[in-house]
Amino acid sequence: MQIKRGAMWAGAQALRFLFPPTCPSCQAMVAAPGTLCAECWPHLRFFEKPWCAVLGTPFEFDMGEGAISPAAIANPPDFDRARSAVYYSGPARDMIRGLKYHDRTDLAPWLANWMLRPGEELLIDADHVVPVPLHWHRFVSRRFNQSAELARHVSRLSKVPLTTGLLARRKSTSPQVGLTAQQRKDNVSGAFQVKGKGKALVAGKKILLIDDVFTTGATVSACARVLKRHGAARVDVLTFARVMGDDFAAQETDAI
Ligand SMILES: [Zn+2]
Repeated sequence: MQIKRGAMWAGAQALRFLFPPTCPSCQAMVAAPGTLCAECWPHLRFFEKPWCAVLGTPFEFDMGEGAISPAAIANPPDFDRARSAVYYSGPARDMIRGLKYHDRTDLAPWLANWMLRPGEELLIDADHVVPVPLHWHRFVSRRFNQSAELARHVSRLSKVPLTTGLLARRKSTSPQVGLTAQQRKDNVSGAFQVKGKGKALVAGKKILLIDDVFTTGATVSACARVLKRHGAARVDVLTFARVMGDDFAAQETDAI
């Protein structure tokens, strides 16, 4: 056992020598994999309490446990609660883009780890975690689903079971880039379905949806609607990053 562990350590050191860990934002060398360099780290903005009990958006003042924001009261979302780890800007954007477009699946465990704290209350309640699916066209071209990668590691770290293949994307939606909130909603409307064998896993269950970025919430809302239609008792949403403010149309993310 000792020898095996020693060999694994030596193997890890050799790999580190061959592929020294780099900052996922600026590519500077760092001491340990999955860490940001000292320059980039302060630019990662975490969501902190107090926040809206429904939307997870921060309050300037503490309004007490369970307080709900005017936005959530005016437009109650189709999901029950949403939480995110960090603001979608600076290093967070670089990490998501690395994960999505540059095959940096090695980042997924680190991003998932940062999702545990904001997702704590959601994970306690969840029967299973479910990734937002990609359409198979996009899956084929990208070879992996970044949301499924995050969900796999959130499940491993939290011990909440992972269920994949429950939701399917039946239409290949155009990227959400540059669309208004209403256009985004229309774009994903009817895009998801619960697959036949998944129906038994939805009725009466508390489901935690996992996605990489919460932009306007159109994608996760479309998923939540179809899950609720099949009797889900609760649908919560946990994402790594979240776009704040009204500048989502200018963001490069397509949330798909
Ligand atoms: Zn850096």
